Amino acid sequence: MRPTTPTTRDDAPRLLEAVKELSRLPDLERVMLVVRRAARELTGADGVTFVVREGDQVFYADEEAIGPLWKGQRFDASVCLSGWTILHRESVVVEDIYADPRVPVEAYRPTFVKSLAIVPIRGEDPLGAIGVYWAARHVATERELALLEELAGAAAVAVANAELLRDLRAAVARGEAALQQRDELLTVASHELKTPLTSLNLAVEGLARDARRGTISVGDKGMDRIARAEKQVHRLAALVDQLLDFSRLSLGRTAIQPSDMDLALLVDEAAARFRDLAVARTGQPIEVRGERRLTGLWDRDRLDQVVTNLLSNALKYGGGRPVWVEVERAEVARIRVHDDGIGIAPADQQRIFERFERPATTRFGGVGLGLWIARELVTAHGGRILVQSALNEGSTFTVELPLG
Ligand code: ADP
Repeated sequence: MRPTTPTTRDDAPRLLEAVKELSRLPDLERVMLVVRRAARELTGADGVTFVVREGDQVFYADEEAIGPLWKGQRFDASVCLSGWTILHRESVVVEDIYADPRVPVEAYRPTFVKSLAIVPIRGEDPLGAIGVYWAARHVATERELALLEELAGAAAVAVANAELLRDLRAAVARGEAALQQRDELLTVASHELKTPLTSLNLAVEGLARDARRGTISVGDKGMDRIARAEKQVHRLAALVDQLLDFSRLSLGRTAIQPSDMDLALLVDEAAARFRDLAVARTGQPIEVRGERRLTGLWDRDRLDQVVTNLLSNALKYGGGRPVWVEVERAEVARIRVHDDGIGIAPADQQRIFERFERPATTRFGGVGLGLWIARELVTAHGGRILVQSALNEGSTFTVELPLG
């Protein structure tokens, strides 16, 4: 007969403390630590084991006791008492281990144990058991058993949480490794593509120049084809450059190298490059406004990329209407690129800065990396990039850089 008198200790707060702690624990090691401490304190036992089920076996994963028990050992579930508890989904109380036929006494003989109680962890489908042991004869009370069962319930949830978290972490790590691989592959691929593409570009441009000058005669049709080839090679080169930048930035391999430079001059030059192209193709004029000189410490090549990207977008999405760029000196250095084109809906204005986000995807070429790259480069300068826009009412992209 099991005594029903409750223990005199006020153990409810201790149990609550353990249950609360268990609900926050991120790994099995710590779950076992909290369980073994709480189980020992709640029952006044001389030893506690944390047993984990492994198929037909049980593994004594952890223990805390006045003398060694079975930590690190495995037994067939059918021959030991924690196995019995797990297989029968039932708690067990043994007053005298030498008098109970279920106890494999040989395993107990070298230990201090005289009495014990074992409860399953997760009653309906036990994943393990908690064992408590006494050196002097003791019959676990109803109260002690109830406390242990409560603790085992909390431990079951904590183990499930810990497993979930471990799986989640593993999944995140796998995802990160896959992303890293993708970026490495992109870096190598775009790097390898760049060299032949540069030669191809030079060859096609040379051909186009000769044809235009009349050094070689290709006829109207031939001229047309060369012009198309030139356009496609430029597109391809721009795409490869973007992919290379994207992969390098993703891998954190792009350092900003600031030097003295003139932002107004940079904008002038970028606009001039586009002006010929734009006027020739679409008749879109590009106007440069504001400061004629604005010097500071920035990375010229990187900012050239940013301005080039914003101008290219303004022309691409600008509906063929004039585009303007303004350089302003205020508490920061500011560049504004404005078009009167298709505009961007408020709901899309944040996501266009993310990689591969393209609200206007169907009608225009591109992969949706330009603004992400631009934002990375501007942020690396300690600056920021913003957009003001409304659908069908044009867009203004603003880059702000700290004055160097
Ligand atoms: P891409 O132009 O290759 O798609 P970006 O990252 O430069 O990539 O731009 C992302 C998206 O933001 C574009 O697909 C387009 O939908 C939108 N966008 C960018 N600039 C403008 C602009 N000036 N006007 C309207 N939409 C724009």
